Amino acid sequence: MYILNYKGEIKLMTFKELNIIEPILKALETKEYLVPTPIQFESIPVLLQGKDILGSAQTGTGKTAAFAIPILQNLLAEKQREQSRRTIKALVLAPTRELAIQIYDNFREYGKNLNIRTSVIYGGVPQSKQVKILNQGVDILVATPGRLLDLIQQGKLTLSNVSYLVLDEADRMLDMGFVRDVKKIVAMVKKERQTMFFSATMPKTIMSLANEILHNPVRIQVSPEEETIDIIKQSVYFVDKKKKVKLLVSLLKNRDLKSVLVFSRTKHGANKIVHQLEESGIRANAIHGNKSQSARQKALALFKAKKVRVLVATDIAARGIDVDELSHVINFDLPEVPETYIHRIGRTGRAGLGGVAISFCSQDQADLLRDIQKHIKMKIDVEKNSVYSIELVNTFNKPKSQNSSKSNKSSNYSKQKKSYSRKRSKSNKVKPKNFSKYDNKNQSKS
Ligand code: AMP
Repeated sequence: MYILNYKGEIKLMTFKELNIIEPILKALETKEYLVPTPIQFESIPVLLQGKDILGSAQTGTGKTAAFAIPILQNLLAEKQREQSRRTIKALVLAPTRELAIQIYDNFREYGKNLNIRTSVIYGGVPQSKQVKILNQGVDILVATPGRLLDLIQQGKLTLSNVSYLVLDEADRMLDMGFVRDVKKIVAMVKKERQTMFFSATMPKTIMSLANEILHNPVRIQVSPEEETIDIIKQSVYFVDKKKKVKLLVSLLKNRDLKSVLVFSRTKHGANKIVHQLEESGIRANAIHGNKSQSARQKALALFKAKKVRVLVATDIAARGIDVDELSHVINFDLPEVPETYIHRIGRTGRAGLGGVAISFCSQDQADLLRDIQKHIKMKIDVEKNSVYSIELVNTFNKPKSQNSSKSNKSSNYSKQKKSYSRKRSKSNKVKPKNFSKYDNKNQSKS
């Protein structure tokens, strides 16, 4: 069996062996990408052949390059064949501006030796600059759905020449209420096209959207557990709710925590943590939905430039944030949905780099921790080396009626999950026919 692993295990395969053209290989070399990640290894050959793809993968797996490289390469070949004028030929839809900008940056980096122009549009900023760039001619457009439709309605751009379509983080797009916008946009691009559909989760609604817009896709599945969990050092502190900030401050005294993303359940909580950290002399910024676009960009830029060590974020704001060499993720609050735990800790340990994920668990969150451990199929090490460490009363085996309101949420989740797996097995019937070897492997495992 193959399983070529970018961590250097088993057998290495290089990008060159994936038939990637020289100018793109050169750009990858500058980025010091030597070996394709599993999703790249799976997707690139399929996409270079022009097939549609349905990918279960999230940020951190290298999925952006997995679709960006073949689009750039196919588009270049097409341009050389047809010598056509510059029009938007590839469209990438992303749910948030942060993700849109990241995808745009990736296209620019991988395509830097090609005569292909990429641009990005998103809401929350004036449109004039974006329109000016569009007028100069663009080959690849990365966009959030709202601003895109807005500009189309104003007659500022057309999608009638788009023959490569990417839907990135489709589940997020649906969660954020973009489903109608997405369908409208899909109806505007060419019918004869290559479509790439990526989603971290594949519930029924996503599968039915995928079935509507994909044509006989190859299914690629990269399990985040396999990808990242085993290279991240995870631990948990049992701590009194009121002592969490003190614990955070004491951990941050260790300068090995170079670049730390702290997750807070609420926007208000995030602000409060930042305030308390600053009172203790630790520079920190918050990033969440109530912050203006420019404040979010600024906070992110300072964090990426390592000028601010700590970024406190809510799940929605942090989704898709791509910070190379993030050393630590701290779950100040445990997430209520176990999958979110994987999304969060996957921020560290990017594309094979090891990382550290520390969670704080107060008594009322004991059941959430149990659900997470069940989901990741491993026990997280308990750290007892802090003065703020406490022992938790074991509620795990108690009857449900004795649980807290939070744990009710978590048991709701278990119910949800059960019905989701039931739905999933039913939805096998409507799954696209072509499954990759990788997918079959995963299916037979389950
Ligand atoms: P993504 O899942 O596309 O957000 O990528 C996650 C991170 O991995 C980004 O920082 C990429 O720049 C990086 N990356 C993507 N592909 C590779 C690769 N083959 N080798 C090393 N790093 C990569």
